[in-house]
Amino acid sequence: MVANDVPTGDCLFCRIIDGEIPATKVAENGQVLAFRDINPKAPTHVLVIPKRHVANVVGLAAVSATELQAVFAMAGRIAIEEGLDAGYRLVVNTGAVAGQTVFHAHLHLIGGRELPE
Ligand code: 5GP
Ligand code: ZN
Repeated sequence: MVANDVPTGDCLFCRIIDGEIPATKVAENGQVLAFRDINPKAPTHVLVIPKRHVANVVGLAAVSATELQAVFAMAGRIAIEEGLDAGYRLVVNTGAVAGQTVFHAHLHLIGGRELPE
């Protein structure tokens, strides 16, 4: 398990879920929230997060397969809504050395342009 967990009260994405910090929401249900990345890397750059605070997606898989499924299902629905039929990228940075900066599980849904390796 990669470390880097933080208390929920200090978590940026928990504060977005709680409405303390504004975000441009794309979709929401009981378990998942999706909102636009503040620093988009492509025409579509949406962060899809579980409402439960878990440090990363592997941690989410360990506690709730249902919520992990809900995150991916939401990403797939948004990809269709955003017209990304030709393809898109789902990115999961896990751990600070891999570029994770917010230690609340999230998928980056990125698309709308050519995405070279
Ligand atoms: P990570 O680097 O942890 O994989 O991704 C964190 C993402 O959160 C980054 O792409 C960053 O641009 C985004 N981000 C950081 N702060 C905010 C914020 O206050 N609002 C939104 N919408 N996105 C943020
Ligand atoms: Zn959190």
